[in-house]
Amino acid sequence: MAPDPMDILNTGLTREASDRPGDDPIFALDGEARRRAAAGEHIVNATLGALHDESGALSTLPTVVDLLAHAPSACYGYAPIVGSAEFLEGVRRDAFGAGALFDSSIAVATPGGTGACYAAVVNFLERGQNLLTTDLYWSPYGILAQHAGRGVETFAMFDAEGGFNTPALAEAIDGQLAQQGRCLLFLNTPCHNPTGYTLDDAEWGRLVEVLLAAAAKGPVTLLLDHAYAAFAPESAAAWVPHVERLLGKLSVLLAWTASKSLALYGGRVGALIAAHSGAEERRRLFNALGYTCRGTWSNGNHLGQWAVGRVLNDERLRSQVAAERAELFGPLDARVVAFNAAAQQFGLETPRYEGGFFVCAFTGAAKEAAALAREQGVFVVPLQGALRLALCSTKLEDVPRLVEVVAGALTAVASGAAR
Ligand code: PLP
Repeated sequence: MAPDPMDILNTGLTREASDRPGDDPIFALDGEARRRAAAGEHIVNATLGALHDESGALSTLPTVVDLLAHAPSACYGYAPIVGSAEFLEGVRRDAFGAGALFDSSIAVATPGGTGACYAAVVNFLERGQNLLTTDLYWSPYGILAQHAGRGVETFAMFDAEGGFNTPALAEAIDGQLAQQGRCLLFLNTPCHNPTGYTLDDAEWGRLVEVLLAAAAKGPVTLLLDHAYAAFAPESAAAWVPHVERLLGKLSVLLAWTASKSLALYGGRVGALIAAHSGAEERRRLFNALGYTCRGTWSNGNHLGQWAVGRVLNDERLRSQVAAERAELFGPLDARVVAFNAAAQQFGLETPRYEGGFFVCAFTGAAKEAAALAREQGVFVVPLQGALRLALCSTKLEDVPRLVEVVAGALTAVASGAAR
């Protein structure tokens, strides 16, 4: 038996911390893809969730870049710990529009959507409890939860027809209420990472019925992970009226981030919004979340909050950015169309996919298939039950090759040829 590293090393690390993986698997794959491309290979790097243009360069929004370059010197001082008031008001309006959810909400600044998810985990789950999410999910949820002494439990996301599996969700919430006395549901829509799936109006209606029924039995909190909201703007019309019905029955959280919507990944600008109809409840929510800010990252990025606050609160800048973002939609939409056509041609099994950064191909042998594709210079991310394909970072001209190589790898693995 291998010796316990704690017995032979003298790092001072706790037992739990002494054997952590050294690199995030997705960033590790991206690193290898970049190294091989730099060495002259023709690589398709469909790993990272950042939008790249047809020349392979990171897409940015000129208005945001310009604002950041001209931030006033006051931004070099600390932002308030909970975030600047203008920024937070802009974020709440961006998330909810005007209406009951906006009127009933508070928010704190977080480092990206990741910070927002973390703040939810530590405030809405006791140690040892599990958040609930779909069986295909953004893997950092697991790391965040584990790091905070919590865990992840999942339910089957899709039913036999490929729709959102509301009965499985209802059963899982009931199970959590019975077992741990509370439920924190993480739901990433629109443009779910990793499947690309967006809940439609009817699915939202059924989901809210399930949440209302469950909230009558115990504390249920919905966290809407809105990382890709700007890439399906029409979906807001579908969810807002449904989610408004939850007010007064449970806390609604929304993880907001500028990473994707304003192409400001490195800015680490995000917020956790909490909506509740009660003023005393909002006061407690605000205090709890502000305490987490102080107890973890402290103050957020003041320059970033200033620039994002300007964009969100100034109508002229807001429409300017919307127009710049719309220019990025065109190429991404073209990749989605090309993908759907190629996926049909090569018989890839995928979810309903109308847009967004990612899509996935279902498979029971993701690791083996991803390894095979990698040998051929095509990098995708293996997950439990699927391969994630980042169309956001794949050039249009590479989409057919991406699909062909992935389909070939899946066939080879299924027929045993990979071994
Ligand atoms: N949620 C999902 C589903 C994501 O894919 C991401 C980023 O990839 C995030 C949240 C958070 O991103 P960030 O912390 O960069 O805002």
